[in-house]
Amino acid sequence: MNRLFLLLSVLLLLSCKSSEEFTGFSYDPEDVTNTVDKEINFQYRRVIGAGNPTVWISNKFEGARFNDFYAINDTLFEILIEPENAPINNSPWYAFKVWSDSARTATFRLNYNNGRHRYVPKISIEDTIRAIDSSKLRYDSVNQTMDFSIKLDQEPKTISAQLITDSEYYSEWLSSFSGLDFVTISDVGFTHRDNPIKKMVVSEIPNNEEAGVLIIIGRQHPPEVPGYLASQIFIEELTGSSELAKEFRKKFEIIAFPLLNVDGVLNGHWRHNAAGIDLNRDWENFNQPETQTVKNELLPLLNNSNRTVYYGIDFHSTNENIFYPIEESVKTVPDNLTQRWIPIIESENPNVPFNTEEFDTNSPIAKNWIYKTFGADAVTFEIDDNLDSKAINQVSKSAVRSLMKLLLEEKK
Ligand SMILES: [Zn+2]
Repeated sequence: MNRLFLLLSVLLLLSCKSSEEFTGFSYDPEDVTNTVDKEINFQYRRVIGAGNPTVWISNKFEGARFNDFYAINDTLFEILIEPENAPINNSPWYAFKVWSDSARTATFRLNYNNGRHRYVPKISIEDTIRAIDSSKLRYDSVNQTMDFSIKLDQEPKTISAQLITDSEYYSEWLSSFSGLDFVTISDVGFTHRDNPIKKMVVSEIPNNEEAGVLIIIGRQHPPEVPGYLASQIFIEELTGSSELAKEFRKKFEIIAFPLLNVDGVLNGHWRHNAAGIDLNRDWENFNQPETQTVKNELLPLLNNSNRTVYYGIDFHSTNENIFYPIEESVKTVPDNLTQRWIPIIESENPNVPFNTEEFDTNSPIAKNWIYKTFGADAVTFEIDDNLDSKAINQVSKSAVRSLMKLLLEEKK
């Protein structure tokens, strides 16, 4: 009897514990919150040819990903896409160059291991990228593959899930701030593959004067390019020459980590860093160099009486424009800033649909760490995978302007 009682008590205790402990969102794979290094699969960088006239494919460039290639028949070629490790969230990134010995049309089949088709294939020609015309796409809902046909010749064409942003793209963007003496960019840490983690500080306020702080984190998840582009527009506006931005910089400084998962981006990962870990589940254990670096850089703010963190934004992309605020009942300082910001963004962008889903603060994600550490409000800001660059630009500019106004009011 006593033993049964003990057993029941233990079971009750376990069930209570498991209902409180965060183990992953509905779309997360098992074990996502175990952020100790995992094994990843090496992607062989190579050029493969198949068919007659020969069709060639290459992944020998930054951001590239395909894992195998073969001819199914004279006109159909299968491209195998695999993740860096599995199980993994379904964000199947791919990027490759294709060409042919002589002019021909070829149909490619994107086939995925451990995932299903998600991103509309895009073709880059010089500096422009456009989605392949929907009339040329054929989705097989049973096998979850995607076929598309394109004309090939000897000039390589780049096909990718989203815009490819290699290290040159990032360094060119960073160097566009070099004329601004209030922008400081420094290497504050290194990834597993020894790529620098960049920190950007935008400040016109001397250290011995009081300032609010806005934290920006971006690109924890490599394929989430629209969110990355949005973060760039935010930073460009915040450092810009508008009267609003100048006023903002009199009261606030900005600390940004615009590209956190450098290894994942350069190696064409679906989600994880070079140790096979979802960085946005590592904000409690800090097992990974990327999250550790941000933590180490931001923690000194706690002991700096001249700096107060007001807000944090973590940029992502998904299949819709969606805000994940900290739920209204959680008291943050300032309180419910996100809940006041969203209606302004919605009213200023009536042509763009937005959703909002509030969460409690128990998951080990960047936004919750900002709240738990500084007591500040914070948001996960997700841009639709398919939002075009014009709309990203429009939404981001209006959003960052209304945020500056809100924060300035807050700081009066
Ligand atoms: Zn994400």
